[in-house]
Amino acid sequence: EAGLERRAANYVPLTPVSLLARAAAAFGARIAVIDGERRLTYTALYERCRRLASALAARGVGRLDTVAILASNIPEMVEAHFAIPMLGAVLNPLNTRLDPATIAFSLRHGGARILIVEDAHAGLAAKALAEMDSPPLVIAIGEGGIDGTLAYEDLIAAGDPAHPWAPPEDEWQSLCLLYTSGTTGDPKGAVYSHRGAYLQALGNAVTFGLSGESVYLWTLPMFHCSGWSYPWACVAAGATQVCLRKVEPAEIFRLIAEHGVTHLCGAPIVLSMIAHAPAHEQRDFSQIVRCAVGGAAPSSTIIRTMEERGFRVTHLYGATESYGPATACLAQPDWADLTDEERYQRMARQGVALATLDAVTVTDPETGEPVAQDGIRIGEIRLRGNTIMKGYLGNPTATEASLAGGWYATGDLGVWHTDGAVEIKDRSKDIIISGGENISSLEVEEVLMRHPAVMLAAVVARPDAIWGETPCAFLEVKPGAAVPSSDEVIAFCRERMARFKVPKTVVFGPLPKTSTGKIQKFVLREQARAL
Ligand code: ADP
Repeated sequence: EAGLERRAANYVPLTPVSLLARAAAAFGARIAVIDGERRLTYTALYERCRRLASALAARGVGRLDTVAILASNIPEMVEAHFAIPMLGAVLNPLNTRLDPATIAFSLRHGGARILIVEDAHAGLAAKALAEMDSPPLVIAIGEGGIDGTLAYEDLIAAGDPAHPWAPPEDEWQSLCLLYTSGTTGDPKGAVYSHRGAYLQALGNAVTFGLSGESVYLWTLPMFHCSGWSYPWACVAAGATQVCLRKVEPAEIFRLIAEHGVTHLCGAPIVLSMIAHAPAHEQRDFSQIVRCAVGGAAPSSTIIRTMEERGFRVTHLYGATESYGPATACLAQPDWADLTDEERYQRMARQGVALATLDAVTVTDPETGEPVAQDGIRIGEIRLRGNTIMKGYLGNPTATEASLAGGWYATGDLGVWHTDGAVEIKDRSKDIIISGGENISSLEVEEVLMRHPAVMLAAVVARPDAIWGETPCAFLEVKPGAAVPSSDEVIAFCRERMARFKVPKTVVFGPLPKTSTGKIQKFVLREQARAL
């Protein structure tokens, strides 16, 4: 090693911003972003980011200042993912489906100096700002709609297309602030680093097979976990990103056919919408379309349905705290010997660590030691590595609780299989305890989803005088399907699972969902309690 020590000239701190600079230098004329009739080449995207960065710098934005954005999946959202980190500032994407009070909470808590707002969300932003004593400066995209704002395009026009920038001195510097969707409580602000985002971009690109030929469709909201870090991953790969404001099957199929989309991501509910789209909304496509599913557990039925419709499914698992995907269900050599049904069940497992994550483990809740890799013993899934958040902003207690011992404790309960794959059985809060037996709500949902009339199933605990709790099933039926009777559903379950796991109560109707399309089990638990 003598004379080969790390040399200052060689060492460049990692930042996802460098991915864009390199893309513009390497294939500047390639299309980076498509939005309706609009096209941005990599050169144009890089230039616009530098212009925006210079305009923000001129207004005093610098290292570690928070810049929030409230926008749908539009090109400006991609720009924000590069322009703001370029200044060493912190990007804070806000969920456009939240209420004004929660938006105001995030702006205050994150100390946002600037809020960039797309005109479509001006009403929401105005209400949130009205609740604040010292609101941030507002930059409006499009038609505006809020008083006293700067126009985004004016800033771009006046900005410097050659604005100089450099990676942060310390690659652990904060880059992004993301409030968790609050499925299980108050939102917490997970903080990402430049290093983490850079590595996650590469991990995502490799895992999902993105390349310069890829066309990525934005079916996932970019405000959710920074779009699982795909704005950076697509640029790392040199792929083309296609914007989509509203997740509607007809529009998804149109864009797939029109732009030759090869990749898209979504929660199981999005796949379900695509799979069950009425025939007149579907379009044929000849390319391979890879569909990553995550954010909630996909049933093997939805994986099968999508594969039978010609999509290739990749199952990803992660959280806001892990920059989106942390594990992926990768095919193992022995899958070749499985029946289709068995293979779809394997694909429903959450899988193994992404190449850029250090490790995943499943630990015994009592001892904290890893459980045996036997596919039976249940423990908590934990994740460790560079692509785990630095912590929660201004919340040392929650940070310590979540990152104790260097592992991120996910709160997800699962088993560890012999081949190294983890499989979630439940969130710790969602497990049902009936007569002293643990029942995995996911296992019961997996069976319910196989019923031909069922489109979505959610099982929660209902308090019971004798058993403590019993499983209560909430079911949404497929469009046009006849609603089965509760007895029929119960009989269907009896044939397919242990008796104590069979739901005692079955309720039909639309299921309550979060802004990111996850079923709100806490709402269902309240409904079950009131039954
Ligand atoms: P919230 O915790 O508010 O829902 P996140 O969006 O960060 O916010 O959700 C992360 C959680 O989503 C995970 O801890 C896990 O419970 C669930 N999840 C994500 N992906 C999967 C998956 N592929 N299978 C099962 N559960 C998943």
